[in-house]
Amino acid sequence: MIDLVSLIYAWRKEEEEKHRRTEDTWWVTDLVRCPLKREFELRYPELVKHQVFTPFFILGDLAHEGVHSVLSRLGRVEFEVEAEKTVALPDGREVRVRGRADAIYYGEGGEKIVIEVKTSRSDAGIPHEHHIDQVRAYLWLHEANEGVLLYVTPDRVTQFPVSDPMTTDEVVERMTSKDYPRYSWECQYCPYSVLCPHKLTKLSR
Ligand code: SF4
Repeated sequence: MIDLVSLIYAWRKEEEEKHRRTEDTWWVTDLVRCPLKREFELRYPELVKHQVFTPFFILGDLAHEGVHSVLSRLGRVEFEVEAEKTVALPDGREVRVRGRADAIYYGEGGEKIVIEVKTSRSDAGIPHEHHIDQVRAYLWLHEANEGVLLYVTPDRVTQFPVSDPMTTDEVVERMTSKDYPRYSWECQYCPYSVLCPHKLTKLSR
């Protein structure tokens, strides 16, 4: 029988490989989540390996592929646009910040619009602060001033404009932050909560 499950598994693994974690690289997603997660990921990579086949994430990735195929009708659009900048940390190290915007649209008037697509189980609370900050980080990385956050949820399909790119100072502050977690809700979904001394529980909130 044709093995479609293995095909999807291999595709997810390929995608995962593109985000290989290294000591001298921060991904944009590291700037908008608990800073400890990056450190734990370097020390205990096995704890998140199973996520490659978490059905909810696969569904999200497949939805992204579908949205990209519709956005391609715009023309003048590039997908999965990767960029990289080098920044200096306060301890003197030079490190890289990398990220892949879902899409960038190049308008006829020369405008450059960063597009980030989000899928979620519901529309409660959108646009989320960490999603807005993610687009702001892409604006900094891609040297753009205009972004769009597109949500595709079972309740609502809508978009929000995002401007205000991060500054390099803000990026460095986020990279070196010791505020654990960055958001109070993070610990309940965190794969490292099984060993983290900073985990927020109901009693510690
Ligand atoms: S459990 Fe909470 S504080 Fe610890 S790494 Fe996860 S999100 Fe951060």
